[in-house]
Amino acid sequence: MRVIVIGAGLGGLALAGGLRRSGIDVAVYERDPSPVVRGQGYRLHLSDVGIDAAASVLGPGRWSAFLSTAHTPKARFIRFDTELRVLEEHDFEGRHLAVDRQELRDTLLADLDRVITYGKHLTAFRTETEHVTAHFEDGTTATGEVLVGADGVNSAVRRQYLPHARVVGTGLTQLYGKIPRRSAEDLDHVFSAITGSGHRVVGVALTRDYATCSFSARTDELPPEPHHMRQHQLRSLVAEMTYGWHPRVQRMLAGWHEIFPLALRTSVPIAPWATTRVTLLGDAAHAMSPAAGAGANLALQDAARLAAALSGGGPLISELRSYERGMAGSGFAAVRASAANGARILGQDPLPAC
Ligand SMILES: Cc1cc2nc3c(=O)[nH]c(=O)nc-3n(C[C@H](O)[C@H](O)[C@H](O)COP(=O)(O)OP(=O)(O)OC[C@H]3O[C@@H](n4cnc5c(N)ncnc54)[C@H](O)[C@@H]3O)c2cc1C
Repeated sequence: MRVIVIGAGLGGLALAGGLRRSGIDVAVYERDPSPVVRGQGYRLHLSDVGIDAAASVLGPGRWSAFLSTAHTPKARFIRFDTELRVLEEHDFEGRHLAVDRQELRDTLLADLDRVITYGKHLTAFRTETEHVTAHFEDGTTATGEVLVGADGVNSAVRRQYLPHARVVGTGLTQLYGKIPRRSAEDLDHVFSAITGSGHRVVGVALTRDYATCSFSARTDELPPEPHHMRQHQLRSLVAEMTYGWHPRVQRMLAGWHEIFPLALRTSVPIAPWATTRVTLLGDAAHAMSPAAGAGANLALQDAARLAAALSGGGPLISELRSYERGMAGSGFAAVRASAANGARILGQDPLPAC
């Protein structure tokens, strides 16, 4: 069996690794011209779901090498007011790691050179009785027995396959960047949020080498095109929007760098669909706001489950159907949980009716 994977993000790479470990022929097609053409973001929080999935697709050797790059924060969420008085705190069960996204990608990429082709932008696919063929922008094609859309929130596979599945804005924009670790050593939790009026939130989380710092606000409170603003302009904007907050917050924000704005979006859960030899994983199926820190964990879980389903030896469509039931069940539950968390803490718009 040959599996065609569209997209070399975390989910696509994890799936390719899992399939290779089971001896299944896999080919990954990624639209970026190379793995280093753009920044891939900073810290990721992995919980039990992502830890177990990553360990299973990487195998014990690579997983234990990767663990040496990870940081273990206190398993706690803390929310402060703008004077840094604690408003709420709660402890999480289970294991929690703060990892660098690029380190995780590099680990997943090891040994996959020969199965990934870069510069391949999928535009459409065609399903036949026994095969499915991917069509790329450059006029080339690739054929396999299964096609997996691991092509993220704007998935071209999803748009063709499930055109009724919607991705909508959350009403929120986040400015995401780094601060020196030493400026936030005492905020070493899974996540610390400093919340002001009008749903303005500064979020801080540490990795082994740096801390991430985000500023979230309702999009309509921000200038129309923040991605056109320079770093110092973004810093000044947020200094103005957090004017009067505790001086400690101002000091952290003064060291903010490598900032990029992101309009946060979410998928809208849909009812189960008829299974075919085309399927989805990760954000392509169930993108969500980062308010629950679950998107990458679920993309990794989907990848591990799909690799197991495809190597189980059972009838293909019935294996894919069980995979999709589990993937959509946990994915859409997390979409709803993220939306609820996002509404409470960040002021996220409610999910539209399905
Ligand atoms: C600021 C921020 C912080 C986050 N923090 C966390 C966290 O702490 N923990 C957590 O679990 N999740 C987190 N997430 C969510 C997480 O980043 C995503 O859920 C995860 O990256 C999804 O992985 P994926 O493989 O499904 O998609 P992606 O990582 O988006 O990969 C999709 C790939 O497909 C490629 N592609 C797209 N279209 C095509 C095409 N037509 N043809 C070929 N290739 C294509 C893209 O170039 C990309 O490489 C965060 C998200 C954000 C925005």
